[in-house]
Amino acid sequence: MNAVKLHSQLELSLEKLREERENKLDIICSFHEAIIVFKPDLSPQIINTQAKTLFKDCLQDGATPSIDQLCLYKNKKSTIRFDLRGWLESLLTLKPLHGKNLEPLEVSVWLKQPQTLQTNLLMLSAKPLFTAQGDIKNILLVIYDRSIYAQADEQKRLMEAAFNSFDGQFITNEKGYITHPNDAFCALTALTAETLRSMTLTRWLEQQVTLKTTTNELLKTLLSTRHWSGEVELHPEPNTTFYAVLSISLLADEQFNIEHYVVTIQNITDIHEAQMAIAQMAYYDELTGLANRRLAMEHLELALKHHKRHATYASLFFINLDRFKNINDAFGRKIGDVLLVQVAQSLKQFLRDEDTVARIAGDEFLIFTQDKATSKAQATQNAYHLAKKIASHLNRNYHIHEITLNSTVCIGITVFPFNPNDTAEDLFTYAELAIAAAKKRTNQKIYFYEPSLSQIVVERRTLEHALTTADLDKQFELHYQVQIDSDDRTHGAEALIRWQHPQMGSISPGKFIPIAEEGRQILRLGHWIMAKAFLQAKQWTEKNPDFTLSINISPIQFHEADFVEQTVKTMQQTLVNPKNITLELTEGVLISDTQNALKKIERLSELGFKISIDDFGTGYSSLSYLQKLPIHELKIDQSFIFRVPESKDDIAIVESIISVARTKNLTIVAEGVENQQQVEFLRKQPDNILIQGYLYGHPCTADEFETLYLNKR
Ligand code: C2E
Ligand code: MG
Ligand code: MG
Repeated sequence: MNAVKLHSQLELSLEKLREERENKLDIICSFHEAIIVFKPDLSPQIINTQAKTLFKDCLQDGATPSIDQLCLYKNKKSTIRFDLRGWLESLLTLKPLHGKNLEPLEVSVWLKQPQTLQTNLLMLSAKPLFTAQGDIKNILLVIYDRSIYAQADEQKRLMEAAFNSFDGQFITNEKGYITHPNDAFCALTALTAETLRSMTLTRWLEQQVTLKTTTNELLKTLLSTRHWSGEVELHPEPNTTFYAVLSISLLADEQFNIEHYVVTIQNITDIHEAQMAIAQMAYYDELTGLANRRLAMEHLELALKHHKRHATYASLFFINLDRFKNINDAFGRKIGDVLLVQVAQSLKQFLRDEDTVARIAGDEFLIFTQDKATSKAQATQNAYHLAKKIASHLNRNYHIHEITLNSTVCIGITVFPFNPNDTAEDLFTYAELAIAAAKKRTNQKIYFYEPSLSQIVVERRTLEHALTTADLDKQFELHYQVQIDSDDRTHGAEALIRWQHPQMGSISPGKFIPIAEEGRQILRLGHWIMAKAFLQAKQWTEKNPDFTLSINISPIQFHEADFVEQTVKTMQQTLVNPKNITLELTEGVLISDTQNALKKIERLSELGFKISIDDFGTGYSSLSYLQKLPIHELKIDQSFIFRVPESKDDIAIVESIISVARTKNLTIVAEGVENQQQVEFLRKQPDNILIQGYLYGHPCTADEFETLYLNKR
């Protein structure tokens, strides 16, 4: 009932009341609304039951009810009371309007029950009642409880907020037509609400969504559980993809008549991209974008299982670039990185998408294809053909920032499954062993794993142990190989280590030095060699003051921070004259950590030692760095001397090394001279070249050396 109407009815009833003066409360209580009738002094005259119930917390029992007891507030959160008295007093000034109905004064306030703290939204509607003389006789206050509306409003706001969240949402009607797409959904799908309203849920799915399952599967789940949720790709435009979580709920009545579908789509592209980036980091090599070791090994594990199950065979290829470390050292990491990227690209282009191509470390690549050979022999044959193709594809010139680098690879292969119980890690070890064997080959550097290679590893471990525990004085000895000058006289000797193991017999330095370097036993051995050699040199130079003794220095030893100090200490202890000592370093030592190497070489030179570069020409040295170094001697590697004078190429190399040496006034030593033709070729050169090789003498003991070469001088 509207307020105006109610007031007039009340007025009438009160009039009647006044006449009858009885049952007045009954009448007032018969209204649904809470009603208070005030006297002109604003003390309550009548309070109906509804009003009493509404204000029961405020109106304490027994107390004479007062207007000031009503806990009314202007708004829900406020602690300042609503001035009901003041508000009603404003009515007391009103005058009756003859002929017209006076409009009631209305205000919304909040009632806070002091006990329960419950709040009610009230609408107060007040109006004065006049006597015939026009004086106010009563003020009538009708109180409407609006709490239900307030709750409904709040609910609506909540619903709207929920529906208008960042997630796209829509509801369909029972036929599946989209009826309520929210703004976020329109934005996400790049479709207007109008277009969407002409579409069904399935039509939209077909048009814009790629499911990971089939539409049929989705519908099946939806019908059986009334809900489906999953990750999907959303394509609002042909070339745009969002990643999203799609949730569909089905609303149906008890007879399972479908009433609505409620659909929510949450854009998780950011999360998806972050996940992809993490996966990329965890599984891919940052530099080349190839799979990393972890991913390759996971794929290998799966491939191994597959082949075991189907009794088929494939091959694992381990590829390594030759001399990559030298390239890195000589030209810098950036150039090295570009080379790796180019090699990776070549490999990728060469192989199929389904094949696994990984970079597992530095210059090490791992490959396996989808080969499904029916026998080991067949797999071996296939692998050999592929390896040859890969090698011829990768062994070429690479052009990097105006530098042309020739890079070659070696390839270790294992067919798999090899042994019935092998794991992917075992296969990896086999491929590693195969590549170690491939590196030792001179021509075609391709090698297949064979069980004897594992034997080599066992041997290697045995040697490592033996090196660590060996009594150096008992098992090791220095041998000396003569160096002859152009007048065929003894110029000096190179000290070469020999190992005689009590059980394993004689072990060549070519075999144990690399192991000693890897395990760093070379440090202990190197000290021992230097002390022995210095003592020997001291002894021999007493009679032959110009005699020089060359000593091989391992890079590991040279890179020790106190290498120079140790050398000086040994020099002082043995009293050797450094001018009789030549320290042989390899090219690698000089290119890596050039600044430090330069400082050490400068100090050693100042002390009087001579510095020689051993095996010159086999490293990746650019001749220009030689200019910076205070070195004294170049030793031409025996591999170049070997084919002289038959090979024109090798003659050219030897002659160019000689001419470089000449510009710096360096002593030249030719290593590995075995025949007269080589001597003749070398003697024809304009420079004095020292000769070292089997033709003049094999390395021999100190005693033999004295007899054969020194006492003859
Ligand atoms: P290297 O310093 O280049 O030594 C020359 C190698 O060539 C020696 O092998 C020597 O016996 C061999 N050789 C000499 N003349 C001929 C020849 O006419 N024909 C052939 N085919 N070979 C010849 P060795 O003694 O087996 O040493 C191999 C390598 O082991 C050395 O190469 C050197 O790098 C290393 N090494 C040897 N002794 C020591 C040492 O005391 N300390 C260190 N750090 N390394 C050493
Ligand atoms: Mg040497
Ligand atoms: Mg050498």
